[in-house]
Amino acid sequence: MAFIVQKYGGTSVGNPERIRNVARRVADSKKEGHKIVVVVSAMSGVTDGLIKLAREVNPDATAREMDVLLATGEQQTIALTALALHGIGVPAVSLTGAQAGIVTDKMHTKAKIANITPRKVHEHLDAGQVVVVAGFQGQNPDGSITTLGRGGSDLTAIAMAAALKADLCEIYTDVDGVYTADPRIVPHAKKIQELSYDEMLELASLGAKVMQARSVEFAKKFKVKFVVRSSFNHNPGTIITEEHSDMEDVVIRGVSLDKNQAKVTIIGVPDKPGVAAGLFGALAEAGTNVDMIVQNVSLEGTTDMTFTIARDDLRTAKKVIEAQVAAIGAKSYTAKDGISKLSVVGIGMRSHTGVAATLFAALAGAGINIQVVTTSEIKISVIVNEDEGPRATQVVHDAFKLGA
Ligand code: ADP
Ligand code: ASP
Ligand code: MG
Repeated sequence: MAFIVQKYGGTSVGNPERIRNVARRVADSKKEGHKIVVVVSAMSGVTDGLIKLAREVNPDATAREMDVLLATGEQQTIALTALALHGIGVPAVSLTGAQAGIVTDKMHTKAKIANITPRKVHEHLDAGQVVVVAGFQGQNPDGSITTLGRGGSDLTAIAMAAALKADLCEIYTDVDGVYTADPRIVPHAKKIQELSYDEMLELASLGAKVMQARSVEFAKKFKVKFVVRSSFNHNPGTIITEEHSDMEDVVIRGVSLDKNQAKVTIIGVPDKPGVAAGLFGALAEAGTNVDMIVQNVSLEGTTDMTFTIARDDLRTAKKVIEAQVAAIGAKSYTAKDGISKLSVVGIGMRSHTGVAATLFAALAGAGINIQVVTTSEIKISVIVNEDEGPRATQVVHDAFKLGA
């Protein structure tokens, strides 16, 4: 008997038939003798629909009320999944994030999990029930509902698996596993059998939305082994685990594309100590993550500074940037959102050369202009125009011969 946390994403619970399909799969696992905790997302489209609704009512909706609203999506699915399990004779109970003992910090809409006290989960498991936990949500120490950022049900599942000391965490989704690129962009992308936490973390952070990046970070920290599989078939998925030496043989593991990007350029920044600290300090305080940063060579005492942020943060960031442009005595700024970030990832990059050259040649050959470049030990990222993103992904994927 194993203790398994199974997570089912939005598409997997997207309609009544699919919820019944999930119930049947859970029942089969239980019949095999396993102890099961199920984590579910909102039905596909529900979270987006709620966000749209809130914007229609108030474009500047407060984060606290957004969380109260968004958490209802998952609350529907836990009840429906428990009902579907009852319908086939499986004892089951639904728990909200708070009821499952998930406590977070106070950063509404992107809260971090502070601790989990899964007392109620254990009680119900001991009574022989399947426990169905709402993904994506928790409560802060004041008792307010919080959510864990988009894709946050992955984090709920991984964190629950860690807190419960489960043997395995299974992430069920609408693809057979993690591919060398998003199969919607590169149809001949190949399924990857095994990945290290760091590679999965980079792919996820850089736009492969198959796993929420923060959930992978959590899995790495607490050594939670997990598998990404399809809820629509029984094909073996992709295993994500600790790095071992064979993994370095593969130079490039995958290509990812992140459309949720915006580029800000501050023009005429006085070239003196403390300016960057002030600007990026203010952005950090507003909860905006800054990603790539490029500073031009100083000319006559001023310089231009370009950086990228998540497109979702642009609205909040603009207010901070406007204030900072005035405070630091810069000339002006531009903010542009029609860009995407393309990245190639692989731990083999540490021991192989020529990756940047192949990447640049592939893009040049396709006539695609590169706007910003950054590199790290196991990745290279470039900014390209959004409308060229998919084609750029295809040519780079082919240049590294990743396809099936
Ligand atoms: P869920 O609702 O189950 O959480 P998501 O929509 O969040 O599912 O993630 C699954 C989707 O991630 C897939 O349908 C696929 O289009 C996309 N995706 C992006 N990059 C990759 C990749 N490298 N491998 C597999 N899927 C990917
Ligand atoms: N329902 C949330 C979202 O759409 C969380 C999740 O699906 O993981 O982002
Ligand atoms: Mg997801």
